[in-house]
Amino acid sequence: MVNWSPPSVPVRKRSPWVQVVGHAGNFQTDSDGRLLKKYCECEQLCFLQLMSDRLRPFVPAYYGVTQREEQDYNLMDDLLADFDSPCIMDCKMGSRTYLEEELKKARECPQPRKDMYEKMIAVDPHAPTAEEQAQQAVLKTRYMQWRETLSSTATLGFRIEGIKKTDGTCNTNFKRTKYKDEVVQALEDFVDNNMLILKNYQQRLKELRIVLGNSDFFKAHEVVGSSLLFVHDQTGKAGIWMIDFGKTVPLPSPLSLDHRSPWAEGNREDGYLWGLDNFIDILTSMLPE
Ligand code: ATP
Ligand code: MG
Ligand code: MG
Repeated sequence: MVNWSPPSVPVRKRSPWVQVVGHAGNFQTDSDGRLLKKYCECEQLCFLQLMSDRLRPFVPAYYGVTQREEQDYNLMDDLLADFDSPCIMDCKMGSRTYLEEELKKARECPQPRKDMYEKMIAVDPHAPTAEEQAQQAVLKTRYMQWRETLSSTATLGFRIEGIKKTDGTCNTNFKRTKYKDEVVQALEDFVDNNMLILKNYQQRLKELRIVLGNSDFFKAHEVVGSSLLFVHDQTGKAGIWMIDFGKTVPLPSPLSLDHRSPWAEGNREDGYLWGLDNFIDILTSMLPE
Protein backbone atom coordinates (compact mmCIF):
# COMPACT_ATOMS: atom_id res chain seq x y z
CA MET A 1 0.00 0.00 0.00
CA VAL A 2 1.43 3.34 -1.08
CA ASN A 3 0.38 6.59 0.41
CA TRP A 4 -0.89 8.77 -2.34
CA SER A 5 -0.98 12.50 -2.21
CA PRO A 6 -2.15 14.74 -5.05
CA PRO A 7 0.67 16.05 -7.23
CA SER A 8 1.42 19.66 -6.52
CA VAL A 9 0.49 21.58 -9.62
CA PRO A 10 1.48 25.23 -9.45
CA VAL A 11 -1.74 27.11 -10.03
CA ARG A 12 -1.21 30.76 -10.78
CA LYS A 13 -3.53 32.57 -8.46
CA ARG A 14 -5.08 35.75 -9.72
CA SER A 15 -3.88 38.70 -7.64
CA PRO A 16 -6.68 40.09 -5.51
CA TRP A 17 -8.00 43.44 -6.65
CA VAL A 18 -6.57 46.40 -4.77
CA GLN A 19 -7.70 50.00 -4.87
CA VAL A 20 -5.31 52.96 -4.90
CA VAL A 21 -7.60 55.96 -4.38
CA GLY A 22 -11.30 56.89 -4.46
CA HIS A 23 -14.18 55.91 -2.22
CA ALA A 24 -13.68 52.37 -0.94
CA GLY A 25 -17.40 51.65 -0.81
CA ASN A 26 -17.83 52.26 -4.54
CA PHE A 27 -16.36 48.94 -5.67
CA GLN A 28 -17.03 45.21 -5.56
CA THR A 29 -15.42 42.34 -7.41
CA ASP A 30 -17.04 39.29 -8.97
CA SER A 31 -15.83 35.72 -9.30
CA ASP A 32 -14.84 36.24 -12.96
CA GLY A 33 -12.24 38.84 -12.07
CA ARG A 34 -14.41 41.72 -13.11
CA LEU A 35 -14.95 44.93 -11.23
CA LEU A 36 -18.24 46.50 -10.21
CA LYS A 37 -18.21 50.28 -9.76
CA LYS A 38 -21.21 52.06 -8.27
CA TYR A 39 -23.46 53.16 -11.11
CA CYS A 40 -23.07 56.59 -12.59
CA GLU A 41 -25.00 57.39 -15.76
CA CYS A 42 -22.33 59.70 -17.11
CA GLU A 43 -19.75 56.93 -16.82
CA GLN A 44 -22.08 54.39 -18.43
CA LEU A 45 -22.65 56.65 -21.47
CA CYS A 46 -18.89 57.13 -21.85
CA PHE A 47 -18.17 53.40 -21.63
CA LEU A 48 -20.87 52.60 -24.19
CA GLN A 49 -19.30 54.99 -26.69
CA LEU A 50 -15.75 53.99 -25.82
CA MET A 51 -16.46 50.35 -26.63
CA SER A 52 -16.79 51.32 -30.31
CA ASP A 53 -14.14 54.05 -30.33
CA ARG A 54 -10.46 53.85 -31.26
CA LEU A 55 -9.72 54.24 -27.55
CA ARG A 56 -11.14 50.84 -26.71
CA PRO A 57 -7.71 49.20 -26.13
CA PHE A 58 -6.93 51.96 -23.64
CA VAL A 59 -9.95 51.54 -21.36
CA PRO A 60 -11.23 48.57 -19.33
CA ALA A 61 -13.69 46.44 -21.31
CA TYR A 62 -17.27 47.29 -20.30
CA TYR A 63 -20.06 44.74 -19.75
CA GLY A 64 -23.09 46.88 -18.95
CA VAL A 65 -25.04 47.44 -15.75
CA THR A 66 -25.47 44.82 -13.06
CA GLN A 67 -27.25 44.80 -9.70
CA ARG A 68 -26.20 43.70 -6.24
CA GLU A 69 -28.33 44.17 -3.16
CA GLU A 70 -30.52 46.64 -5.03
CA GLN A 71 -27.56 48.79 -6.02
CA ASP A 72 -26.70 49.30 -9.69
CA TYR A 73 -23.11 48.94 -10.81
CA ASN A 74 -21.15 49.45 -14.03
CA LEU A 75 -19.38 46.18 -14.76
CA MET A 76 -15.86 46.33 -16.23
CA ASP A 77 -12.61 44.43 -16.47
CA ASP A 78 -10.29 44.43 -13.51
CA LEU A 79 -7.13 45.82 -15.11
CA LEU A 80 -4.96 44.12 -12.49
CA ALA A 81 -6.17 40.62 -13.31
CA ASP A 82 -3.23 39.67 -15.57
CA PHE A 83 -0.53 41.00 -13.29
CA ASP A 84 1.39 39.30 -10.52
CA SER A 85 1.53 41.43 -7.32
CA PRO A 86 1.41 44.64 -9.34
CA CYS A 87 2.64 48.14 -8.56
CA ILE A 88 -0.12 50.61 -9.35
CA MET A 89 -0.25 54.36 -9.84
CA ASP A 90 -3.29 56.57 -10.36
CA CYS A 91 -2.60 59.90 -12.14
CA LYS A 92 -5.43 62.35 -12.54
CA MET A 93 -5.11 64.03 -15.94
CA GLY A 94 -5.83 67.58 -17.01
CA SER A 95 -5.23 71.12 -15.85
CA ARG A 96 -8.64 71.34 -14.16
CA THR A 97 -10.42 68.70 -12.08
CA TYR A 98 -13.89 70.22 -11.86
CA LEU A 99 -16.43 70.75 -14.61
CA GLU A 100 -17.49 74.17 -15.81
CA GLU A 101 -20.98 73.00 -14.93
CA GLU A 102 -19.93 72.43 -11.30
CA LEU A 103 -18.49 75.92 -11.13
CA LYS A 104 -21.78 77.38 -12.38
CA LYS A 105 -23.87 75.31 -9.96
CA ALA A 106 -21.70 76.16 -6.99
CA ARG A 107 -22.10 79.84 -7.77
CA GLU A 108 -25.88 79.55 -8.01
CA CYS A 109 -26.30 77.68 -4.73
CA PRO A 110 -23.12 77.89 -2.72
CA GLN A 111 -22.90 75.04 -0.24
CA PRO A 112 -20.23 75.35 2.44
CA ARG A 113 -18.46 72.01 2.96
CA LYS A 114 -17.09 71.08 6.35
CA ASP A 115 -15.34 67.97 5.04
CA MET A 116 -13.38 70.03 2.52
CA TYR A 117 -12.46 72.56 5.19
CA GLU A 118 -11.03 69.70 7.26
CA LYS A 119 -9.05 68.43 4.28
CA MET A 120 -7.75 71.94 3.62
CA ILE A 121 -6.43 72.58 7.12
CA ALA A 122 -4.90 69.12 7.25
CA VAL A 123 -2.62 70.25 4.39
CA ASP A 124 -2.25 73.92 5.29
CA PRO A 125 -3.82 75.32 8.48
CA HIS A 126 -3.34 78.85 7.13
CA ALA A 127 -5.12 78.28 3.82
CA PRO A 128 -8.70 79.16 4.90
CA THR A 129 -9.70 82.82 4.92
CA ALA A 130 -11.03 84.43 8.10
CA GLU A 131 -14.58 83.94 6.84
CA GLU A 132 -13.95 80.28 6.06
CA GLN A 133 -12.42 79.81 9.49
CA ALA A 134 -15.49 81.31 11.11
CA GLN A 135 -17.74 78.98 9.12
CA GLN A 136 -15.40 76.01 9.52
CA ALA A 137 -16.35 75.27 5.93
CA VAL A 138 -15.30 76.09 2.36
CA LEU A 139 -17.09 76.07 -0.96
CA LYS A 140 -16.39 73.08 -3.15
CA THR A 141 -15.08 75.22 -6.03
CA ARG A 142 -12.84 77.15 -3.69
CA TYR A 143 -11.45 73.89 -2.33
CA MET A 144 -10.87 72.47 -5.80
CA GLN A 145 -9.21 75.62 -7.12
CA TRP A 146 -7.03 75.84 -4.05
CA ARG A 147 -6.05 72.19 -4.33
CA GLU A 148 -5.05 72.56 -7.96
CA THR A 149 -2.54 75.27 -7.13
CA LEU A 150 -0.86 72.97 -4.58
CA SER A 151 -0.30 70.02 -6.86
CA SER A 152 1.09 69.67 -10.37
CA THR A 153 -2.42 69.87 -11.90
CA ALA A 154 -1.99 73.59 -12.57
CA THR A 155 1.73 73.48 -13.43
CA LEU A 156 1.99 70.22 -15.40
CA GLY A 157 -1.54 69.21 -16.36
CA PHE A 158 -1.63 66.01 -14.28
CA ARG A 159 -1.15 64.95 -10.70
CA ILE A 160 -0.23 61.74 -8.96
CA GLU A 161 -3.16 60.65 -6.80
CA GLY A 162 -1.67 57.53 -5.31
CA ILE A 163 0.91 54.79 -5.65
CA LYS A 164 0.58 51.24 -4.36
CA LYS A 165 3.72 49.13 -4.32
CA THR A 166 4.10 45.34 -4.60
CA ASP A 167 4.51 45.02 -0.83
CA GLY A 168 1.08 46.59 -0.33
CA THR A 169 2.35 49.94 0.94
CA CYS A 170 0.24 52.77 -0.36
CA ASN A 171 1.17 56.42 -0.65
CA THR A 172 -1.53 58.98 -1.37
CA ASN A 173 0.46 61.84 0.04
CA PHE A 174 1.05 63.72 -3.21
CA LYS A 175 -1.20 66.68 -2.61
CA ARG A 176 1.83 68.95 -2.62
CA THR A 177 3.79 67.21 -5.34
CA LYS A 178 3.97 70.13 -7.70
CA TYR A 179 7.27 70.45 -9.52
CA LYS A 180 8.93 68.29 -12.14
CA ASP A 181 11.75 67.19 -9.81
CA GLU A 182 9.27 65.93 -7.24
CA VAL A 183 7.31 64.03 -9.88
CA VAL A 184 10.55 62.48 -11.19
CA GLN A 185 11.40 61.30 -7.68
CA ALA A 186 7.96 59.74 -7.19
CA LEU A 187 8.21 57.99 -10.58
CA GLU A 188 11.71 56.66 -9.87
CA ASP A 189 10.45 55.20 -6.64
CA PHE A 190 7.34 53.80 -8.36
CA VAL A 191 9.37 51.84 -10.95
CA ASP A 192 12.23 51.11 -8.53
CA ASN A 193 14.61 52.66 -11.05
CA ASN A 194 13.75 49.95 -13.59
CA MET A 195 14.47 51.60 -16.96
CA LEU A 196 12.77 48.83 -18.93
CA ILE A 197 9.47 49.53 -17.21
CA LEU A 198 9.95 53.26 -17.65
CA LYS A 199 10.56 52.73 -21.36
CA ASN A 200 7.43 50.57 -21.64
CA TYR A 201 5.39 53.30 -19.98
CA GLN A 202 6.82 55.95 -22.29
CA GLN A 203 5.95 53.83 -25.36
CA ARG A 204 2.43 53.19 -24.13
CA LEU A 205 1.82 56.91 -23.50
CA LYS A 206 3.11 57.80 -26.95
CA GLU A 207 0.70 55.27 -28.47
CA LEU A 208 -2.13 56.67 -26.36
CA ARG A 209 -1.35 60.21 -27.54
CA ILE A 210 -1.65 59.15 -31.18
CA VAL A 211 -4.92 57.33 -30.57
CA LEU A 212 -6.37 60.25 -28.58
CA GLY A 213 -5.56 62.50 -31.54
CA ASN A 214 -7.70 60.29 -33.79
CA SER A 215 -10.52 59.53 -31.37
CA ASP A 216 -14.03 60.81 -32.12
CA PHE A 217 -14.93 60.32 -28.47
CA PHE A 218 -12.02 62.44 -27.25
CA LYS A 219 -12.72 65.31 -29.66
CA ALA A 220 -16.28 65.59 -28.48
CA HIS A 221 -15.83 65.30 -24.69
CA GLU A 222 -14.62 67.48 -21.85
CA VAL A 223 -12.50 64.98 -19.92
CA VAL A 224 -12.26 66.03 -16.30
CA GLY A 225 -11.22 64.05 -13.22
CA SER A 226 -10.29 61.04 -15.32
CA SER A 227 -7.14 59.10 -14.45
CA LEU A 228 -4.49 57.06 -16.12
CA LEU A 229 -3.93 53.84 -14.23
CA PHE A 230 -0.32 52.62 -14.50
CA VAL A 231 0.26 48.95 -13.68
CA HIS A 232 3.46 46.90 -13.79
CA ASP A 233 4.92 43.86 -12.08
CA GLN A 234 8.28 42.18 -11.51
CA THR A 235 8.16 40.45 -14.91
CA GLY A 236 8.57 43.85 -16.61
CA LYS A 237 5.04 43.82 -17.96
CA ALA A 238 3.52 47.30 -17.92
CA GLY A 239 0.19 48.77 -18.99
CA ILE A 240 -1.65 52.08 -18.85
CA TRP A 241 -5.40 52.58 -19.16
CA MET A 242 -7.84 55.47 -18.90
CA ILE A 243 -10.29 55.10 -16.01
CA ASP A 244 -12.92 57.11 -14.14
CA PHE A 245 -15.35 58.79 -16.52
CA GLY A 246 -17.74 60.15 -13.88
CA LYS A 247 -16.96 63.69 -15.01
CA THR A 248 -16.36 63.17 -18.70
CA VAL A 249 -19.17 64.97 -20.49
CA PRO A 250 -20.18 65.42 -24.14
CA LEU A 251 -19.71 68.86 -25.65
CA PRO A 252 -22.59 70.60 -27.34
CA SER A 253 -22.18 70.05 -31.08
CA PRO A 254 -20.32 71.44 -33.05
CA LEU A 255 -17.90 72.39 -30.24
CA SER A 256 -14.72 70.31 -30.03
CA LEU A 257 -11.60 70.66 -27.91
CA ASP A 258 -7.91 70.52 -28.76
CA HIS A 259 -7.18 69.54 -25.11
CA ARG A 260 -4.02 71.69 -25.14
CA SER A 261 -5.18 75.30 -25.11
CA PRO A 262 -5.28 77.04 -21.74
CA TRP A 263 -8.64 77.02 -20.02
CA ALA A 264 -10.71 80.17 -19.93
CA GLU A 265 -14.19 79.77 -18.48
CA GLY A 266 -16.53 79.00 -21.36
CA ASN A 267 -14.00 77.34 -23.68
CA ARG A 268 -14.20 74.05 -21.71
CA GLU A 269 -10.61 73.11 -22.50
CA ASP A 270 -9.37 70.45 -20.05
CA GLY A 271 -5.59 70.43 -20.68
CA TYR A 272 -5.57 66.64 -21.05
CA LEU A 273 -3.10 66.48 -23.95
CA TRP A 274 -0.99 69.26 -22.48
CA GLY A 275 -0.63 67.09 -19.36
CA LEU A 276 0.12 64.02 -21.45
CA ASP A 277 2.82 65.91 -23.40
CA ASN A 278 4.40 66.96 -20.11
CA PHE A 279 4.21 63.43 -18.76
CA ILE A 280 5.91 61.97 -21.84
CA ASP A 281 8.62 64.68 -21.69
CA ILE A 282 9.31 63.85 -18.05
CA LEU A 283 9.62 60.11 -18.78
CA THR A 284 11.87 60.89 -21.76
CA SER A 285 14.14 63.03 -19.58
CA MET A 286 14.45 60.12 -17.11
CA LEU A 287 15.53 57.60 -19.76
CA PRO A 288 19.13 57.24 -20.96
CA GLU A 289 19.69 58.68 -24.48
P1 ATP B 1 -12.56 59.45 -7.52
O1 ATP B 1 -13.65 60.08 -8.33
O2 ATP B 1 -12.46 59.93 -6.10
O3 ATP B 1 -11.22 59.48 -8.22
P2 ATP B 1 -13.95 56.94 -8.04
O4 ATP B 1 -14.85 56.40 -6.98
O5 ATP B 1 -14.56 57.58 -9.25
O6 ATP B 1 -12.89 57.89 -7.35
P3 ATP B 1 -12.02 55.56 -9.68
O7 ATP B 1 -11.17 56.76 -9.75
O8 ATP B 1 -12.70 55.07 -10.92
O9 ATP B 1 -13.06 55.70 -8.49
O10 ATP B 1 -11.14 54.34 -9.14
C1 ATP B 1 -10.53 54.38 -7.87
C2 ATP B 1 -9.42 53.37 -7.82
O11 ATP B 1 -9.94 52.06 -8.09
C3 ATP B 1 -8.31 53.58 -8.85
O12 ATP B 1 -7.30 54.43 -8.36
C4 ATP B 1 -7.82 52.17 -9.06
O13 ATP B 1 -6.91 51.82 -8.03
C5 ATP B 1 -9.06 51.33 -8.90
N1 ATP B 1 -9.70 51.01 -10.19
C6 ATP B 1 -10.68 51.69 -10.81
N2 ATP B 1 -11.05 51.09 -11.96
C7 ATP B 1 -10.28 49.99 -12.08
C8 ATP B 1 -10.20 48.92 -13.03
N3 ATP B 1 -10.97 48.88 -14.11
N4 ATP B 1 -9.29 47.94 -12.80
C9 ATP B 1 -8.50 47.97 -11.71
N5 ATP B 1 -8.54 48.93 -10.78
C10 ATP B 1 -9.41 49.93 -10.94
MG1 MG C 1 -10.63 58.61 -9.87
MG1 MG D 1 -14.45 59.50 -10.11
